[in-house]
Parts: sequence; C-alpha cells; structure tokens
Amino acid sequence: MTNNTNPPPAPQHSAAAAVPSKSAAALALGWLHTARFLTTAPQLHFLPHLDVPEIAFVGRSNAGKSTCINTLTQQKQLAFASKKPGRTQHINLFSLGKQGVTDAVLTDLPGYGYAAVPKQDKIRWQQVMANYLVTRENLKGIVLMCDPRHGLTELDEILLEVVRPRVEEGLKFLVVLTKADKLTRSEQTKALSIMKLQAGGGEVRLFSAPKRQGIDEIALLLWQWAHPAGDSPAP
Ligand code: GDP
Repeated sequence: MTNNTNPPPAPQHSAAAAVPSKSAAALALGWLHTARFLTTAPQLHFLPHLDVPEIAFVGRSNAGKSTCINTLTQQKQLAFASKKPGRTQHINLFSLGKQGVTDAVLTDLPGYGYAAVPKQDKIRWQQVMANYLVTRENLKGIVLMCDPRHGLTELDEILLEVVRPRVEEGLKFLVVLTKADKLTRSEQTKALSIMKLQAGGGEVRLFSAPKRQGIDEIALLLWQWAHPAGDSPAP
C-alpha cells in the first residue's frame, strides 16, 4: 500500500508560535476532518496495538471535550458517539488520515469527576486512564480540556502528576482552556498566564466553539505532533 499518493505539504513549524498561516491551518483542519470512528474499548487491554501516533483528549465531564473534538474535526456528532449509553465509560478511538490511510489516531478518554458516577466506578476509571496514559506506547500527545472558570480540578492535578515523567521525556502536552467566550479579554489573558505556570512546560491555548477561537492554532499543533519535521506521513 502506498502511503501518500498526494502527501500534504508540511505546514511551517514556526506557524504554531504566532498566528498560523491560513493555508497551513486549512491543511491541518482538512486532515482533522478525515476523523472516522475506529473502535471503542471498555478497558485498556481491548485497545488494538497501533503504530501510528495517538493523541488523547482528556478532561473532567462537562469541560467541553466533545464540543472541542467535534469542532476541530468539523463533525457534529463524532465525539457525541462517546456519550451514547454504554459508551460513556469507554475509550473511543478515531482514525485520521487522507484517502482512507490512517496516519494518526485521536483518542477520546471518558470524562471524569461526574458526581453521579458511583465511587467504585470512578476509582476504576482513574486507574484505566492512568494506565493508558503511562503505558500506551504510541501515545504522542495529550490534550487536557479545562474550563478556566473552574481551573484545574483535583483529578486534573492527579493526571498532571501521572503524565509528568512522560512529558519530561518528550510526550507532547496541551491544555485547552475551553469556553473562552465566557471570559472577558483580561480574564482570558490572566487564565492563560496562570495555566502556563501550571502546565509544566506544556502548551496552553484558549478555545471557544461559538467564537471559533483557537481552532486554527490547535489544529496546527496536533498536525505537527502527528507529523514531526522530517517524517513522511506514516502508512
Ligand atoms: P464534555 O462533557 O467535556 O464532552 O463537554 P461538552 O462538549 O458536552 O460541553 C459541556 C457543555 O458546555 C455543553 O452545554 C456545551 O454546549 C458547553 N460548551 C462546550 N464548549 C463551549 C464553548 O466553547 N463555549 C460555550 N459558551 N459553551 C461551550
């Protein structure tokens, strides 16, 4: 199988630093739009072994994770599949790649901290998630969704501690401050700088679905994680 009959030109790496160029962002968004359901697994050991880079989305329930995934992939229902009865506690995988050739995978991990979930289930899920984040070999990056009006929750802090050693070894890490439209401009600036201090060297971006804020920057960042400089798109 040829891996790239028509490979997209690599977006400029410098583009993520400031405002991304429109063409680079359009490429990255086009790539994200190829997202399609791959599989769902109730536990870690049911996940298929994959060689392509994997990017995991995590966050407390209601942080805006599904909305962000759906906005980035421009698919209204994609991540809401994860909210269907029976799937809320599953790990849901989506393939990415043009011409049906998977070159990366998006993972939607179950939202945590939802009050109505029995304590035993919560503990079990924390363990599954921690295991996933520590042991998933092809994991390339983590996107932590955080509602800046609430800041990091206790479970977010635990997650940060769990992934810190891997981030120090080069695992990519991004905190998305969701629902930025609910903050004033100065509150946004403040939330950004506070989170930059807490993110342990990871990236931080503001995001708003209704205002379409941060979409280009986040899309480009994810594209770059999955296609590091010098690599051709993976089969
Ligand atoms: P999840 O549980 O983390 O997947 O969160 P959802 O994506 O379901 O969002 C939770 C709630 O926040 C829903 O009512 C969304 O409409 C709302 N929401 C999500 N993103 C945004 C945003 O960018 N701006 C605003 N104002 N509301 C949002």
